[in-house]
Amino acid sequence: MSNEQKQPTLEDIVSLCKRRGFIFQGSEIYGGLAGTWDYGPLGVQLKKNLQDLWWKTFVESRDDMVGLDAAILMNPKTWKASGHVDTFTDPLVECSECKGRFREDKLDDPNKCPNCGKENTFGEARQFNLMFETTAGPVASDENKVFLRPETAQGIFTNFKNVVDTLYPEVPFGIAQIGKAFRNEISPRDFVFRSREFGQMEIEYFIREENWKELFEQWQSDIKDFLSEAGVDMSKVTEEEVEGEDLAHYSKRTIDYEFEYPHGSDELLGLAYRTNFDLGNIERESGKSMVYRPKDGSEPFVPHVIEPSFGVERLVMAVLVSAYRYDAENERIVLQLPPHIAPVRYCVSPLLKNKPELVSKAREVYQALRNKGHSVMWDDNGNIGKRYRRQDEIGTPECIVIDFETLENDTVTVRDRDTTEQKRIATTELF
Ligand code: ATP
Repeated sequence: MSNEQKQPTLEDIVSLCKRRGFIFQGSEIYGGLAGTWDYGPLGVQLKKNLQDLWWKTFVESRDDMVGLDAAILMNPKTWKASGHVDTFTDPLVECSECKGRFREDKLDDPNKCPNCGKENTFGEARQFNLMFETTAGPVASDENKVFLRPETAQGIFTNFKNVVDTLYPEVPFGIAQIGKAFRNEISPRDFVFRSREFGQMEIEYFIREENWKELFEQWQSDIKDFLSEAGVDMSKVTEEEVEGEDLAHYSKRTIDYEFEYPHGSDELLGLAYRTNFDLGNIERESGKSMVYRPKDGSEPFVPHVIEPSFGVERLVMAVLVSAYRYDAENERIVLQLPPHIAPVRYCVSPLLKNKPELVSKAREVYQALRNKGHSVMWDDNGNIGKRYRRQDEIGTPECIVIDFETLENDTVTVRDRDTTEQKRIATTELF
């Protein structure tokens, strides 16, 4: 298969996801709900494999990291302290003709409505807060107003003291969390890329101020290793230094990792040195000290923070785009996912589904692979060629077929997704 591949279109990815049960439009049966997506049987496994790899890489394999799972609903003071109540806004303009609202900073032509095409119909931009609001308890009052968290990071910062007081970790150490975040995006778009409900995988890495430069560089390298391990095509990734007025006032350095999505190069994740801005805000709003006392008795201090912030949906999309190939020679679509990320590791089939002796041997192999902890699919529908096409499209690395020769000499055929080559091996070699 040629390695010269053109980039899949957004339509290619969306249609594969729907056709094969990766991702469906949220509430599709009722006409959908903009900015929401449902993961089908294969999508949920792909997402889980990516999240598990992230957790294993950044939490389980490291001595300097611990995990956390904080509540989505948090005391509203959190969002006051973090600045989200006052500044988590997008500038919005309204067209006086069609009443459409648009993000001013995303308009191709600032004087022309992209909906009705009329010119000079926009009034003054208004700031629109992106946090979803709801009420805690039965009384809908201002006092009971709470927000769905717009990021997972604040759950980490607000538990900094709990973690320090219970585990006494030594700086530098990090707290990691995977969870949902919600943003009332004005125009959700580009499939799951900009959703209103999405997953984040965030780390707050607490450090001494004087070490920030070298630790920031270490994170750059760790992030690239992870992306590559996850199956992201690194030739499509660029590091964009955030500069000038785009750089938050408290940040000394921020890098956006952009990926070449079908809609253009756009942010996959961010890496920011946030000084001690967040812990300082919490100290002010809560009146509690965030001072860290080193075990060696040296001077206490409020730690600074480096924050790698990954979006789950944007990673899923980058991995799908990286894996997607059209193989013209064999007229097939194939997802070349790394085996440890593919939602199905093996597909097991009896050559014919109406031969009980083949079916029972195939069942045995299927069960033995599952017992080994692999994700295995049983497929006895249609002819073998069709089964292979189906498995290629969902990225299954190997298809195992049990045929009459298996019954004679206990060998099976294993067909490789990428080369389409088949080889015969002893069944015992599978395990
Ligand atoms: P953007 O500029 O694209 O809106 P952001 O800079 O506001 O993103 P952050 O606040 O840094 O994003 O959030 C961290 C990560 O969360 C992003 O890098 C991205 O992967 C993910 N993310 C943010 N907003 C969304 C969204 N609406 N849908 C899906 N993922 C998102």
